[in-house]
Amino acid sequence: MDWFASKINTWQKAHGRHDLPWQQNISAYRVWLSEIMLQQTQVETVKPYFIRFLEKYPEISELARASTDDVLALWTGLGYYNRARNLHKTSIIIHKDYQGAFPSCLDRLTELPGIGRSTAGAILALSMGKRGVILDGNVKRVLSRFHLIEGYLEERTTTDELWRHADRHTPAIETNVYTQGIMDLGATICKRSAPACSECPLVNRCGAHQHNLAAQIPRRKPKRKKPVKDSLFFIICNEDKEVIVEKRAESGVWAGLWSPLERCKEYSLDQILEELDLHEDSVLNIATESPIKHSFTHFQIKATPIYVRVRSSACSEFGAGFRWVNSDMIRKKRVDVGMSALALKLINNGPLG
Ligand code: SF4
Repeated sequence: MDWFASKINTWQKAHGRHDLPWQQNISAYRVWLSEIMLQQTQVETVKPYFIRFLEKYPEISELARASTDDVLALWTGLGYYNRARNLHKTSIIIHKDYQGAFPSCLDRLTELPGIGRSTAGAILALSMGKRGVILDGNVKRVLSRFHLIEGYLEERTTTDELWRHADRHTPAIETNVYTQGIMDLGATICKRSAPACSECPLVNRCGAHQHNLAAQIPRRKPKRKKPVKDSLFFIICNEDKEVIVEKRAESGVWAGLWSPLERCKEYSLDQILEELDLHEDSVLNIATESPIKHSFTHFQIKATPIYVRVRSSACSEFGAGFRWVNSDMIRKKRVDVGMSALALKLINNGPLG
Protein backbone atom coordinates (compact mmCIF):
# COMPACT_ATOMS: atom_id res chain seq x y z
CA MET A 1 0.00 0.00 0.00
CA ASP A 2 1.49 3.38 -0.98
CA TRP A 3 1.72 6.50 1.22
CA PHE A 4 -1.47 7.97 -0.26
CA ALA A 5 -3.59 4.84 0.32
CA SER A 6 -2.16 4.27 3.76
CA LYS A 7 -3.06 7.85 4.82
CA ILE A 8 -6.57 7.48 3.40
CA ASN A 9 -7.16 4.15 5.15
CA THR A 10 -5.95 5.35 8.54
CA TRP A 11 -8.12 8.45 8.20
CA GLN A 12 -11.17 6.47 7.07
CA LYS A 13 -11.06 4.16 10.08
CA ALA A 14 -10.97 7.11 12.49
CA HIS A 15 -12.95 9.83 10.72
CA GLY A 16 -14.76 8.35 7.71
CA ARG A 17 -18.46 7.63 7.43
CA HIS A 18 -19.63 4.33 8.86
CA ASP A 19 -23.34 4.77 9.32
CA LEU A 20 -24.70 5.38 5.84
CA PRO A 21 -27.72 3.14 5.10
CA TRP A 22 -25.86 1.29 2.31
CA GLN A 23 -22.96 0.52 4.67
CA GLN A 24 -25.23 -1.73 6.74
CA ASN A 25 -25.86 -5.37 5.70
CA ILE A 26 -23.56 -4.82 2.72
CA SER A 27 -24.40 -6.71 -0.47
CA ALA A 28 -23.73 -6.18 -4.16
CA TYR A 29 -27.41 -5.28 -4.64
CA ARG A 30 -27.32 -2.57 -1.97
CA VAL A 31 -23.96 -1.14 -3.10
CA TRP A 32 -25.08 -1.09 -6.74
CA LEU A 33 -28.38 0.60 -5.85
CA SER A 34 -26.63 3.27 -3.74
CA GLU A 35 -23.96 3.92 -6.39
CA ILE A 36 -26.59 4.48 -9.08
CA MET A 37 -28.67 6.74 -6.83
CA LEU A 38 -25.60 8.74 -5.77
CA GLN A 39 -24.64 9.66 -9.33
CA GLN A 40 -25.05 13.45 -9.57
CA THR A 41 -27.11 13.37 -6.36
CA GLN A 42 -26.31 14.37 -2.77
CA VAL A 43 -26.12 11.75 -0.02
CA GLU A 44 -28.87 13.40 2.05
CA THR A 45 -31.23 13.38 -0.92
CA VAL A 46 -30.49 9.72 -1.65
CA LYS A 47 -30.99 8.34 1.88
CA PRO A 48 -34.84 8.33 2.01
CA TYR A 49 -35.07 7.04 -1.57
CA PHE A 50 -32.65 4.21 -0.80
CA ILE A 51 -34.61 3.20 2.28
CA ARG A 52 -37.98 3.33 0.48
CA PHE A 53 -36.56 1.36 -2.45
CA LEU A 54 -35.32 -1.44 -0.23
CA GLU A 55 -38.58 -1.55 1.71
CA LYS A 56 -40.42 -2.19 -1.53
CA TYR A 57 -37.77 -4.32 -3.26
CA PRO A 58 -35.64 -5.97 -0.55
CA GLU A 59 -34.20 -8.43 -3.08
CA ILE A 60 -33.12 -7.95 -6.69
CA SER A 61 -35.63 -10.63 -7.77
CA GLU A 62 -38.46 -8.40 -6.53
CA LEU A 63 -37.10 -5.43 -8.44
CA ALA A 64 -36.81 -7.60 -11.57
CA ARG A 65 -40.48 -8.59 -11.29
CA ALA A 66 -41.70 -4.97 -10.86
CA SER A 67 -43.11 -2.92 -13.73
CA THR A 68 -41.01 -0.05 -15.11
CA ASP A 69 -43.85 2.33 -14.14
CA ASP A 70 -43.64 1.21 -10.50
CA VAL A 71 -39.86 1.68 -10.47
CA LEU A 72 -40.19 5.16 -12.00
CA ALA A 73 -42.86 6.04 -9.42
CA LEU A 74 -40.44 5.21 -6.62
CA TRP A 75 -37.72 7.25 -8.38
CA THR A 76 -39.98 10.32 -8.66
CA GLY A 77 -38.09 13.49 -7.72
CA LEU A 78 -34.62 11.89 -7.82
CA GLY A 79 -34.00 12.98 -11.44
CA TYR A 80 -31.93 11.47 -14.27
CA TYR A 81 -34.61 8.86 -14.89
CA ASN A 82 -32.49 6.81 -17.28
CA ARG A 83 -30.77 5.59 -14.14
CA ALA A 84 -34.04 4.03 -12.98
CA ARG A 85 -34.76 2.48 -16.38
CA ASN A 86 -31.25 0.98 -16.56
CA LEU A 87 -31.49 -0.18 -12.96
CA HIS A 88 -34.64 -2.10 -13.82
CA LYS A 89 -33.11 -3.58 -17.00
CA THR A 90 -30.03 -4.71 -15.07
CA SER A 91 -32.11 -6.30 -12.32
CA ILE A 92 -33.91 -8.41 -14.95
CA ILE A 93 -30.59 -9.55 -16.47
CA ILE A 94 -29.10 -10.41 -13.06
CA HIS A 95 -32.25 -12.29 -12.08
CA LYS A 96 -32.57 -14.24 -15.34
CA ASP A 97 -28.99 -14.74 -16.55
CA TYR A 98 -27.02 -14.74 -13.29
CA GLN A 99 -29.47 -16.45 -10.90
CA GLY A 100 -29.71 -13.25 -8.85
CA ALA A 101 -25.97 -12.88 -8.09
CA PHE A 102 -23.90 -10.06 -9.55
CA PRO A 103 -20.90 -11.22 -11.63
CA SER A 104 -17.59 -10.67 -9.88
CA CYS A 105 -15.46 -9.48 -12.78
CA LEU A 106 -15.13 -6.00 -14.21
CA ASP A 107 -15.86 -6.95 -17.84
CA ARG A 108 -19.13 -8.70 -17.03
CA LEU A 109 -20.25 -5.92 -14.70
CA THR A 110 -19.61 -3.14 -17.23
CA GLU A 111 -21.70 -5.00 -19.84
CA LEU A 112 -24.78 -4.36 -17.68
CA PRO A 113 -27.00 -1.32 -18.44
CA GLY A 114 -26.03 1.76 -16.44
CA ILE A 115 -22.88 0.24 -14.91
CA GLY A 116 -19.71 2.04 -15.94
CA ARG A 117 -16.14 1.34 -14.92
CA SER A 118 -16.32 3.30 -11.66
CA THR A 119 -19.64 1.81 -10.49
CA ALA A 120 -18.31 -1.66 -11.30
CA GLY A 121 -15.15 -0.86 -9.30
CA ALA A 122 -17.25 0.21 -6.32
CA ILE A 123 -19.35 -2.98 -6.43
CA LEU A 124 -16.18 -5.13 -6.54
CA ALA A 125 -14.41 -3.23 -3.78
CA LEU A 126 -17.25 -2.46 -1.40
CA SER A 127 -19.34 -5.61 -1.61
CA MET A 128 -17.07 -8.41 -2.81
CA GLY A 129 -13.74 -7.74 -1.10
CA LYS A 130 -12.04 -7.51 -4.50
CA ARG A 131 -9.70 -4.92 -5.91
CA GLY A 132 -11.90 -2.49 -7.82
CA VAL A 133 -10.90 1.02 -8.92
CA ILE A 134 -13.31 3.93 -8.69
CA LEU A 135 -13.28 7.42 -10.15
CA ASP A 136 -16.44 9.26 -9.19
CA GLY A 137 -16.78 13.04 -8.74
CA ASN A 138 -15.34 13.07 -5.23
CA VAL A 139 -12.35 10.94 -6.22
CA LYS A 140 -11.66 13.09 -9.28
CA ARG A 141 -11.54 16.16 -7.05
CA VAL A 142 -9.16 14.63 -4.50
CA LEU A 143 -6.81 13.17 -7.13
CA SER A 144 -6.72 16.24 -9.35
CA ARG A 145 -5.91 18.46 -6.37
CA PHE A 146 -3.39 16.12 -4.84
CA HIS A 147 -1.56 15.61 -8.16
CA LEU A 148 -2.08 19.22 -9.29
CA ILE A 149 -3.81 18.20 -12.51
CA GLU A 150 -4.81 21.42 -14.22
CA GLY A 151 -6.44 20.10 -17.39
CA TYR A 152 -10.19 20.43 -17.88
CA LEU A 153 -12.14 17.56 -16.32
CA GLU A 154 -14.20 17.22 -19.50
CA GLU A 155 -11.10 16.34 -21.55
CA ARG A 156 -10.18 12.75 -22.27
CA THR A 157 -6.48 13.28 -21.50
CA THR A 158 -7.39 14.55 -18.01
CA THR A 159 -9.71 11.62 -17.33
CA ASP A 160 -7.10 9.15 -18.56
CA GLU A 161 -4.50 10.70 -16.26
CA LEU A 162 -6.92 10.52 -13.32
CA TRP A 163 -7.68 6.85 -14.03
CA ARG A 164 -3.93 6.12 -14.05
CA HIS A 165 -3.54 7.74 -10.62
CA ALA A 166 -6.70 6.04 -9.32
CA ASP A 167 -5.40 2.66 -10.44
CA ARG A 168 -1.91 3.25 -9.06
CA HIS A 169 -3.15 4.25 -5.59
CA THR A 170 -5.82 1.58 -5.15
CA PRO A 171 -4.34 -1.03 -2.79
CA ALA A 172 -4.72 -4.78 -3.18
CA ILE A 173 -5.64 -5.14 0.49
CA GLU A 174 -8.33 -3.27 2.39
CA THR A 175 -9.64 -1.97 -0.92
CA ASN A 176 -13.06 -1.49 0.63
CA VAL A 177 -11.63 0.81 3.33
CA TYR A 178 -9.65 2.78 0.75
CA THR A 179 -12.63 3.10 -1.61
CA GLN A 180 -14.95 4.33 1.11
CA GLY A 181 -12.16 6.54 2.49
CA ILE A 182 -11.38 8.45 -0.69
CA MET A 183 -15.09 9.00 -1.33
CA ASP A 184 -15.58 10.22 2.25
CA LEU A 185 -12.55 12.49 2.09
CA GLY A 186 -13.88 14.10 -1.08
CA ALA A 187 -17.36 14.51 0.40
CA THR A 188 -16.42 15.81 3.84
CA ILE A 189 -12.91 17.38 3.71
CA CYS A 190 -11.79 17.99 0.15
CA LYS A 191 -15.11 19.65 -0.65
CA ARG A 192 -15.82 21.53 -3.85
CA SER A 193 -15.71 24.91 -2.16
CA ALA A 194 -13.61 25.68 0.91
CA PRO A 195 -11.71 22.39 1.33
CA ALA A 196 -10.67 21.81 4.95
CA CYS A 197 -6.98 21.25 4.15
CA SER A 198 -5.88 21.61 7.77
CA GLU A 199 -7.88 18.47 8.63
CA CYS A 200 -6.76 16.49 5.58
CA PRO A 201 -4.43 13.49 5.96
CA LEU A 202 -2.88 14.28 2.54
CA VAL A 203 -1.99 17.89 3.28
CA ASN A 204 1.80 17.43 3.54
CA ARG A 205 2.13 16.25 -0.04
CA CYS A 206 -0.87 17.85 -1.74
CA GLY A 207 0.15 19.79 -4.88
CA ALA A 208 -2.90 22.07 -4.99
CA HIS A 209 -2.52 22.97 -1.32
CA GLN A 210 1.18 23.72 -1.68
CA HIS A 211 0.52 26.01 -4.68
CA ASN A 212 -2.56 27.56 -3.10
CA LEU A 213 -4.67 26.32 -6.01
CA ALA A 214 -7.19 24.07 -4.27
CA ALA A 215 -10.05 26.48 -5.02
CA GLN A 216 -9.25 26.46 -8.77
CA ILE A 217 -8.86 22.70 -9.22
CA PRO A 218 -10.45 20.67 -10.72
CA ARG A 219 -10.93 22.97 -13.66
CA ARG A 220 -14.10 22.87 -15.72
CA LYS A 221 -14.60 24.24 -19.21
CA PRO A 222 -16.54 27.51 -19.25
CA LYS A 223 -20.19 26.68 -19.83
CA ARG A 224 -21.86 27.63 -23.08
CA LYS A 225 -25.23 29.33 -22.83
CA LYS A 226 -27.94 26.72 -23.17
CA PRO A 227 -30.79 27.11 -25.66
CA VAL A 228 -34.16 27.74 -24.02
CA LYS A 229 -37.34 25.86 -24.92
CA ASP A 230 -40.50 27.84 -24.17
CA SER A 231 -43.37 25.61 -23.04
CA LEU A 232 -46.80 25.98 -21.49
CA PHE A 233 -47.81 23.51 -18.80
CA PHE A 234 -51.56 23.17 -18.26
CA ILE A 235 -52.24 22.05 -14.70
CA ILE A 236 -55.90 21.10 -14.78
CA CYS A 237 -57.36 20.44 -11.37
CA ASN A 238 -60.90 19.56 -10.28
CA GLU A 239 -62.76 20.41 -7.08
CA ASP A 240 -61.58 17.14 -5.51
CA LYS A 241 -57.91 18.19 -5.73
CA GLU A 242 -57.19 15.84 -8.57
CA VAL A 243 -54.88 16.87 -11.41
CA ILE A 244 -54.83 15.57 -14.97
CA VAL A 245 -51.46 14.16 -16.01
CA GLU A 246 -50.36 12.77 -19.33
CA LYS A 247 -47.93 9.95 -20.05
CA ARG A 248 -44.95 11.28 -21.97
CA ALA A 249 -43.45 9.57 -25.03
CA GLU A 250 -41.12 6.63 -24.43
CA SER A 251 -38.17 8.60 -25.80
CA GLY A 252 -36.95 12.13 -25.25
CA VAL A 253 -37.13 14.29 -22.13
CA TRP A 254 -38.72 12.57 -19.10
CA ALA A 255 -39.46 9.52 -21.25
CA GLY A 256 -42.32 7.41 -19.91
CA LEU A 257 -43.01 9.71 -16.94
CA TRP A 258 -46.34 11.41 -16.17
CA SER A 259 -46.65 15.18 -16.30
CA PRO A 260 -49.13 18.05 -16.48
CA LEU A 261 -49.87 18.68 -20.15
CA GLU A 262 -46.87 20.31 -21.82
CA ARG A 263 -47.66 22.16 -25.03
CA CYS A 264 -45.88 24.70 -27.25
CA LYS A 265 -46.26 28.36 -26.35
CA GLU A 266 -48.77 29.00 -29.14
CA TYR A 267 -51.24 26.51 -27.68
CA SER A 268 -54.55 27.84 -26.34
CA LEU A 269 -56.77 26.78 -23.48
CA ASP A 270 -59.59 26.12 -25.99
CA GLN A 271 -57.39 23.55 -27.72
CA ILE A 272 -56.67 21.83 -24.41
CA LEU A 273 -60.36 21.75 -23.46
CA GLU A 274 -61.16 20.25 -26.84
CA GLU A 275 -58.46 17.60 -26.45
CA LEU A 276 -59.92 16.58 -23.12
CA ASP A 277 -63.52 16.87 -24.27
CA LEU A 278 -64.27 19.48 -21.60
CA HIS A 279 -66.83 22.23 -22.17
CA GLU A 280 -65.69 25.79 -21.44
CA ASP A 281 -68.62 26.13 -18.95
CA SER A 282 -66.86 23.60 -16.73
CA VAL A 283 -63.96 26.01 -16.13
CA LEU A 284 -64.19 27.66 -12.70
CA ASN A 285 -61.04 29.78 -12.81
CA ILE A 286 -57.71 30.19 -14.58
CA ALA A 287 -54.39 31.50 -13.27
CA THR A 288 -51.20 31.96 -15.25
CA GLU A 289 -48.12 32.09 -13.05
CA SER A 290 -44.55 33.24 -13.65
CA PRO A 291 -42.38 30.86 -15.65
CA ILE A 292 -40.10 28.37 -13.91
CA LYS A 293 -36.72 27.58 -15.47
CA HIS A 294 -35.54 23.97 -15.41
CA SER A 295 -32.09 23.02 -16.64
CA PHE A 296 -31.01 19.91 -18.50
CA THR A 297 -27.49 19.03 -19.65
CA HIS A 298 -27.90 20.66 -23.06
CA PHE A 299 -30.88 23.00 -22.78
CA GLN A 300 -33.33 24.72 -20.46
CA ILE A 301 -37.09 24.62 -20.31
CA LYS A 302 -38.92 27.83 -19.52
CA ALA A 303 -42.14 26.40 -18.17
CA THR A 304 -45.10 28.75 -17.90
CA PRO A 305 -47.74 27.16 -15.66
CA ILE A 306 -51.40 27.74 -16.45
CA TYR A 307 -53.62 26.52 -13.62
CA VAL A 308 -57.18 25.68 -14.63
CA ARG A 309 -59.76 24.59 -12.12
CA VAL A 310 -62.74 22.68 -13.56
CA ARG A 311 -65.94 21.30 -12.06
CA SER A 312 -65.58 17.71 -10.87
CA SER A 313 -68.96 16.89 -12.39
CA ALA A 314 -67.73 17.91 -15.84
CA CYS A 315 -64.88 15.45 -15.87
CA SER A 316 -65.36 12.12 -17.49
CA GLU A 317 -62.80 9.49 -18.40
CA PHE A 318 -60.12 10.45 -20.92
CA GLY A 319 -58.35 8.39 -23.50
CA ALA A 320 -55.36 6.19 -22.69
CA GLY A 321 -52.35 8.29 -21.84
CA PHE A 322 -54.21 10.60 -19.46
CA ARG A 323 -55.16 10.03 -15.85
CA TRP A 324 -55.99 11.82 -12.62
CA VAL A 325 -53.59 12.00 -9.72
CA ASN A 326 -54.50 13.30 -6.29
CA SER A 327 -52.50 16.43 -5.46
CA ASP A 328 -52.52 15.60 -1.72
CA MET A 329 -50.86 12.26 -2.48
CA ILE A 330 -48.25 14.12 -4.54
CA ARG A 331 -47.55 16.46 -1.64
CA LYS A 332 -47.14 13.46 0.67
CA LYS A 333 -44.80 11.85 -1.91
CA ARG A 334 -47.13 8.88 -2.19
CA VAL A 335 -47.85 9.19 -5.87
CA ASP A 336 -48.08 5.84 -7.69
CA VAL A 337 -46.70 6.99 -11.06
CA GLY A 338 -43.28 8.30 -12.11
CA MET A 339 -43.12 12.10 -12.31
CA SER A 340 -40.31 14.56 -12.86
CA ALA A 341 -39.24 17.06 -10.20
CA LEU A 342 -40.59 19.88 -12.38
CA ALA A 343 -44.01 18.19 -12.66
CA LEU A 344 -44.14 17.84 -8.87
CA LYS A 345 -43.12 21.47 -8.41
CA LEU A 346 -45.74 22.74 -10.85
CA ILE A 347 -48.48 20.82 -9.07
CA ASN A 348 -47.29 21.51 -5.52
CA ASN A 349 -46.81 25.25 -6.13
CA GLY A 350 -50.22 25.66 -7.70
CA PRO A 351 -52.73 28.19 -6.42
CA LEU A 352 -55.74 25.96 -7.04
CA GLY A 353 -55.35 23.68 -4.05
S1 SF4 B 1 -4.91 19.09 1.25
FE1 SF4 B 1 -6.75 20.21 0.75
S2 SF4 B 1 -6.85 20.25 -1.48
FE2 SF4 B 1 -5.35 18.70 -0.90
S3 SF4 B 1 -6.49 16.80 -0.91
FE3 SF4 B 1 -6.53 17.59 1.18
S4 SF4 B 1 -8.39 18.84 1.32
FE4 SF4 B 1 -7.97 18.46 -0.83
